[in-house]
Amino acid sequence: MAKLGAEDEQENNPVSLTEMKTIIKSLHRTPQPQDSYHLLSRPQQVVIFRLRTGHSRLNQHLHGKLHVVPSPMCSCGEAEQDTAHILRDCRNHQVLREEIWPLPESLHNKLYGPVAALQRTTNYISRSGLQV
Ligand SMILES: [Zn+2]
Repeated sequence: MAKLGAEDEQENNPVSLTEMKTIIKSLHRTPQPQDSYHLLSRPQQVVIFRLRTGHSRLNQHLHGKLHVVPSPMCSCGEAEQDTAHILRDCRNHQVLREEIWPLPESLHNKLYGPVAALQRTTNYISRSGLQV
């Protein structure tokens, strides 16, 4: 069978072996993760990661886990200073929050939404003067 095949007129294939390998690999490569988080700059990723995980420099974490501040409370005195409080409720940042999010926006979208939503969150944090 192989001999018969070899006797047939051979196709003049203009694609080199290297090119063919590249083509085959590209067809089988799994797409790179391009979720909104990976589209952020590195400093923006750090902010979003810390807010998502709660491993941040907000008082609730610094007090509860690390015992480096005397209280988990926010400087507004109304609640523990954690991600949800800062992004949703803290009256110290009410004006800025209404400027950044003039329409209601869910906490989930602020942390896991499209890239523009995540950038609004990082912009809010940087303008608030908070260190996360
Ligand atoms: Zn507060």
